[in-house]
Amino acid sequence: MRVGGVAAFVGLGSNLGQPERQVRQALLELDGLADSRLTGHSPLYGSSPVGPPGQPDYVNAVARLETSLDAHALLDALQAVELSHGRVRGERWGARTLDLDLLLYGDRQIDTPDLKVPHPQLHLRAFVLVPLHDLAPDLELPGLGPLVDQLPRRPGRDLWRLPESADG
Ligand code: ADP
Ligand code: MG
Repeated sequence: MRVGGVAAFVGLGSNLGQPERQVRQALLELDGLADSRLTGHSPLYGSSPVGPPGQPDYVNAVARLETSLDAHALLDALQAVELSHGRVRGERWGARTLDLDLLLYGDRQIDTPDLKVPHPQLHLRAFVLVPLHDLAPDLELPGLGPLVDQLPRRPGRDLWRLPESADG
């Protein structure tokens, strides 16, 4: 494996088809991506859905990768993992078996039609900010400043830590 590149952070979310299993399996698959290595992940969280009503709760986590893929190649690889989990692109913010968002790619700011980094919703979503902070408390968000300044001031009822599973 040719690694030794950029630190990238990936947000994981699932609310269909045994979401906790989807997320744990996806973490293993991220570790197996070409030219990339999983260098850490947050605990798993449960969260209340945003978007269309009537969806099941989500399971969320954030992973850190060391990668020598460029950002677009990494996005392609993430979308291939989504598809392998049976994700069908439907309604915006609708229920999904697996959502993988490229949150940060080193200190880069990217604004292309198919890829925007930092992820445009990152600083607005407790289910991203809180696990990102678990993993990298001192992080600076390119264009936004310190991660800690974006954290919700108090824990909300719409985000909760899941118990660690027996198999880790
Ligand atoms: P969402 O995650 O907002 O619910 P999708 O996962 O369906 O939506 O993503 C829609 C599109 O967002 C993708 O086809 C991708 O090209 C685009 N996109 C732009 N920036 C990013 C990013 N940083 N991470 C993931 N997808 C992104
Ligand atoms: Mg997405």
